[in-house]
Amino acid sequence: MSRLCVILFGPPGSGKGTQAKLLNASLGLAHISTGDMLREKIAAADGLGAEVAAIMKTGKLVPDNLVNQMVEEKIDSKESIRGFILDGYPRTVAQAELLDGLIKARPVCPVVVYLKVDYNVIIGRIAGRRQCPNCNALYGLTSKNPVVAGICDNCGSKLVIREDDREEVVRERLKAYDGETRPLLEYFKQAGYPELDIDGGSEPPQAIAEDIVKWIRSVEQTMAARRALEA
Ligand code: AMP
Repeated sequence: MSRLCVILFGPPGSGKGTQAKLLNASLGLAHISTGDMLREKIAAADGLGAEVAAIMKTGKLVPDNLVNQMVEEKIDSKESIRGFILDGYPRTVAQAELLDGLIKARPVCPVVVYLKVDYNVIIGRIAGRRQCPNCNALYGLTSKNPVVAGICDNCGSKLVIREDDREEVVRERLKAYDGETRPLLEYFKQAGYPELDIDGGSEPPQAIAEDIVKWIRSVEQTMAARRALEA
């Protein structure tokens, strides 16, 4: 039985984290967020924490070998047994190549969901974003407000502005996306991964998630029918 690998693709602030959580409610897959894993490394103050923090503060990408290793371990962990959602990975051609090798060496079926959002909407969204430093839950000023202002609904921690959510850093992150990450759309096309392009800026997140789940189910059905014909 093939495992599903949903590559949630799009610029920072396009709603990948929100969609990963909503999709998980229907699909029950592991949520692999390289950004969250890196923030956990920083919080744990392990050997690489300080180096990673310094890079993330600037909005630039951390080295491929570091994220590649983290993702490979997660893909092979028990929690990914039914499949996984990649949020914020791959972000460079070298990462996409490593992922392609991992996919080909395992019974994994990759699909790409490209969340398209206008950059002006993104800058406004990120400026209003707050995060829980304890459980990583994200809140917006215009959507998903916490019940008590400034306090995480899940664990009661005080919400903070992520250092890399400041406007000048956001612009740098969008530059990194344009230069290193957006070209991966061509890579995915060449690799033949099924892709859904969806407007991530105008519909409510729940409606977007429903459309994505419908599409994923239809891709799964097509693949199952193809396998049955080949058997
Ligand atoms: P995110 O939370 O996904 O927006 O990621 C926040 C920051 O973590 C990025 O701006 C990068 O500095 C770093 N990062 C996250 N994922 C990756 C990745 N796949 N490759 C390199 N750097 C990453």
